[in-house]
Amino acid sequence: MRIVLLGAPGAGKGTQANKISHKFNVPHISTGDILRHEIKNSTELGNKISKYVESGELVPDEFIIEIIKNKISSGQLENGFIMDGFPRNLKQAKMFSEMLDELGIELDKVINIAVSEDEIINRLSNRRICSSCKSIYSFNNDGKLEKCPKCGGELLKRKDDSAEVIKNRLEVYEAETRPLIDYYSDKGLLVNVDGSGSAEEITERILKVL
Ligand code: AMP
Repeated sequence: MRIVLLGAPGAGKGTQANKISHKFNVPHISTGDILRHEIKNSTELGNKISKYVESGELVPDEFIIEIIKNKISSGQLENGFIMDGFPRNLKQAKMFSEMLDELGIELDKVINIAVSEDEIINRLSNRRICSSCKSIYSFNNDGKLEKCPKCGGELLKRKDDSAEVIKNRLEVYEAETRPLIDYYSDKGLLVNVDGSGSAEEITERILKVL
């Protein structure tokens, strides 16, 4: 299974990638998680890119391409993948296409999770992430949730889920990432999935098109 999940920030890519990854035992590759891990550990890369992630700008392509190349050379993509947050612009998509050509493999599908802007702002403002197992929760739906129900880890709000940064991330999505919908549609790979409703409902819709 070789899948790219597309969608605005807050569309549910991370949640859905996690579920599909467990169901089919295929690696979930989230460039956002990789970058946040680098920042948390104050690595050389983390220190270079934190300003972009914290302000909602895209991290320069060369860093991202390097991360994906490392995944390829370490064999982590050999048995399939679910890409979440990559590619993020046309340059990355074209480079990814070239990398896959070199490996002689093809994408199966690109799933675009479509959600209204109001819903996205609501979801991002209420989102909490488990600092330990990375599960994603909605603060509103889960009432007074303080600890992760799965592992007891602390639930944190992402720094870039503040109102101002959300606005910027949505603008960046419109300018940089939305054009990928046409790019993959022209390649005959795109499938649109309604991203409204509960996580379980969205998973059902995705499973139907896989
Ligand atoms: P995400 O977790 O996918 O919402 O990503 C969080 C942030 O990480 C983004 O706002 C960007 O700053 C950065 N980021 C993640 N993936 C990419 C990518 N493929 N290209 C550039 N920046 C990225």
